[in-house]
Amino acid sequence: MSNRRKDSVSSLERLEQIQYIDNLKNRIFKKGLKYHIVTYGCQMNVHDSEKLAGMLHEIGYTQTDDQRQADLILFNTCCVRENAELRVYGNVGALKSFKQANPNLIIGICGCMMQQNDVSEYIKSTFPFVDLIFGTHNLHRFPLLLLQAMDSNQTVIEILDTEGAVVEHVPAKRAKEVSAWVTIMYGCNNFCSYCIVPYVRGRERSRLKDDILSEIHELAGRGYKEVTLLGQNVNSYGKDLNHKYLFHNLLRDINEINGIQRIRFMTSHPKDLSDELIQTMAECDKVCKHLHLPIQAGSNRILHSMNRKYTREDYSGLVGKVKAVIPEIALTTDIIVGFPGETENDFLETLEIVEQVRYDSAFTFLYSPRKGTPAEKRKDQIPQDAKKDRLLRLNDAVNRISLEKNLAYIGRNVEVLVEGVSKNRTDVLTGRTDTNKTVNLKGDSDLIGKIATVEITNAHSWSLEGRVAVPADLL
Ligand code: SF4
Repeated sequence: MSNRRKDSVSSLERLEQIQYIDNLKNRIFKKGLKYHIVTYGCQMNVHDSEKLAGMLHEIGYTQTDDQRQADLILFNTCCVRENAELRVYGNVGALKSFKQANPNLIIGICGCMMQQNDVSEYIKSTFPFVDLIFGTHNLHRFPLLLLQAMDSNQTVIEILDTEGAVVEHVPAKRAKEVSAWVTIMYGCNNFCSYCIVPYVRGRERSRLKDDILSEIHELAGRGYKEVTLLGQNVNSYGKDLNHKYLFHNLLRDINEINGIQRIRFMTSHPKDLSDELIQTMAECDKVCKHLHLPIQAGSNRILHSMNRKYTREDYSGLVGKVKAVIPEIALTTDIIVGFPGETENDFLETLEIVEQVRYDSAFTFLYSPRKGTPAEKRKDQIPQDAKKDRLLRLNDAVNRISLEKNLAYIGRNVEVLVEGVSKNRTDVLTGRTDTNKTVNLKGDSDLIGKIATVEITNAHSWSLEGRVAVPADLL
C-alpha cells in the first residue's frame, strides 16, 4: 500500500471516529468536563499533547491547570530517560486518593513508555485505578478510547506493536500564539545503541509535503510568525518517500509562505547534514541561523559503539563547512557522558571537541541504561560517581563558553521575535533571536508577535537581557 493510500485510509478512519463521537458530544458539553494533561519529554511529545488537547476540545472538554478540578488527568509519557519514568509512576500513584474522592475521574496514560514491553501490564496491576492506557501509534484514536474508558469498569488498553500510517487532520490546541510546532516526520531508523526511540516510535515516516505546507499556510493565516519543524531525525525528511523532495526542498517552499517570518527545526543528525541543506540555510532569509547538531561524544571509539555513523573528524568537518558558509551560525548540541566503556581519555576527547566547536549551549546528560537497547546489556557500565564527576566538568566547560558567547552580545542590537510574557516575571517580555538566544526585555505587550530591534544590556549563560532600541510604533 502506498503512503498516500495509507494516509487517506487513516484520515477516513479518524473522521468516522469523530462522527461516532459527535453523537456523544452533548454528554460532555452538558457536564462541562475539564481535562489536565501532564507531559514528559521532548518537543515531539509536547506537540502530541497539543493534539490530545485539540481532540479533547473538539469533543467539548475544557482545560484546567488544577488537577483537583479535572475530570480527566492524562499523562503523556517519555521513556528516553529513567528519571522521567520514575516520576510518572510516582505521580500516577499519588492520584489514588483523587480517584477515591471522585470515582468519575478518568486517569489515562499514553506515550512512549506505554510502547515498552510489560509496562502496560505493570501499570494495570500496580495502579488498578488507571482507566485508560494507549501507545504512540494510535494517538488519533484517543477520543474513541476515552469514551470506551468512560463506559467500562476495567482498564482500557490499546497498544499497537507496529507503526500505522501518518494520520492527518488531527486538531491541535496550541499552547503558544506566536510560534508553532509542526511535526514533519515520525520515527527513526538510526538505532543509536543507547536509544529507545526507534523501538517505541517506529521507523521513519515523512508527512506528504502538501499536508505540511497547507498546515503552515493555515498557521500563517491564524497569525503565527514562527514554525519549528519537528522530527526525531528531521533532516532525513523525505528519504522514505521518493528521495526527490528532501528536507532542503521543504525549507525552500516554507520560506516562500507569506506571514511566516522564522523557520526552525530539530533534531538534526550529522549524517544527514547535506551540502544542499547548509546552502539552503544560508540562502533562505527566514531559516534561522541556528543549528542543533547532537555530537553525543568526542571519542571515535565511543561514537562507534553508540552506532552514531560518523567520526569526530566527520563532525568537525561539518562544523567547519557550516561556519564557513554561515559565519553567524549558533551551534548547540546534545552530549552523553558515562556511556558504557567510556574512559577518562574518551571523556577528555569530548571536552576537547566542546572547546573546539565552542557551542552556544548544550544539553548534557548522564548515560541512563534503557531496557531493550544494546548498550543496556553491556557489562562495562560506568559507576555513577564517575559519571557525575564527568558531567560536572563538562557542564563547567559548556556554561563557561555559553557565557563568553553571550557576553559578546552586550551592546549589540539584535532582532528579537517577542513571544510573550516571561513565566517568571509578568512585567517582562520574552523572545528569541534568530540564533535562538532567549532575550528578556521590558516593553509594552503590543510587541508580542513582532520582531523588535533590541539592544542587549546584560548576559547570562542561558539568556540575555535587553531594551527595545526601536520604539514600538516604528516597528
Ligand atoms: S538518531 Fe539516535 S538518538 Fe536520535 S532518535 Fe534516532 S536512535 Fe535515538
